[in-house]
Amino acid sequence: MIIVLKPNSSRRDIAAVSAEIKRLGYSPHIMRGVARTVFGAVGDERQHASLESLSAWPQVESVTRIQKRYKLVSREAHPQNSTVTTRGVVIGGPKCVIMAGPCSVESERQLMITAEAVARAGATVLRGGAYKPRTSPYEFQGLGLKGLKLLAKARKATGLAVITELLSEDHVEQVAEYADILQIGARNAQNFQLLIAAAKTGLPVLLKRGLSMKIEEWLLAGEYVLANDNPNLMFCERGIRTFETYTRNTLDLSTIPIIKRESHCPVVIDPSQGGGRADLVAAFCKGSVAMGADALLIEVHPNPAEAWSDGAQQLSLEGFAALMKDLKPFLAAAGRE
Ligand code: PEP
Ligand code: MN
Repeated sequence: MIIVLKPNSSRRDIAAVSAEIKRLGYSPHIMRGVARTVFGAVGDERQHASLESLSAWPQVESVTRIQKRYKLVSREAHPQNSTVTTRGVVIGGPKCVIMAGPCSVESERQLMITAEAVARAGATVLRGGAYKPRTSPYEFQGLGLKGLKLLAKARKATGLAVITELLSEDHVEQVAEYADILQIGARNAQNFQLLIAAAKTGLPVLLKRGLSMKIEEWLLAGEYVLANDNPNLMFCERGIRTFETYTRNTLDLSTIPIIKRESHCPVVIDPSQGGGRADLVAAFCKGSVAMGADALLIEVHPNPAEAWSDGAQQLSLEGFAALMKDLKPFLAAAGRE
């Protein structure tokens, strides 16, 4: 249910409504707008009294049922776009945020060279996997804690915020100590216990779309984050499994306007996993910007041919710098900085 308070309600009014929502057996999720305060009240309506009674309260403007299965991530719950902020980087605002870096952290030298190059070219977030979800157990699994420490070192040297993936609940505490944004990978997109544990850190969560996940399932997975009191959620499209084998995945750009219609959360596009080919990354970025993506997550490596993972899809440092230049008119045309 969405409970909208009258404009300029006092703190006492807000506290009283919050207490009543709790008393009736629901959890109140507060959203403060410029003029109005809105509560998303979630709970099982079969087990508790109806919240409709609140509509008689003088400080309440309206009580509306959210018909969709996802509630807090829905546009109905939060009509304005929400933004996610970390280290001064705002995702979901006027600026299209560029997150870039290697698929995997391999060495101090590799990471530092990449971090400095992407920062120079305009990225504000550094990506890099320390724990890697590899299809084969015989492939490089990531540097683990050593990789996290290198990411923190690169952040210190460049000022870039850090995004990195966590594969299991066992990693949450450790990764949260080093990262600014927690990445939930495609293979874990419906690992609900992991989503809950990540949400509870309070850090921003970037939720990739699962390889064969329907949009509704993806939104419901995101709901786990907001329902655990973490409003800092981003959805990241990274391509889905289709009959097509020309590309590694089929990048589904239709998700940009659809997620934007259904949800208030920022939308990020990963053009690297999206096609699995470096030569497609620029076109995917341009299309994503035109369709309203709030951020791009791009794999960049000083020597893609020698990369320990995903070599075919990583841009070289020069390739990335050229892309940043090429993107400018597209960003301007889309009204983004
Ligand atoms: C990655 O970002 O390197 C990655 C493994 O992503 P995904 O979970 O989308 O496959
Ligand atoms: Mn990768």
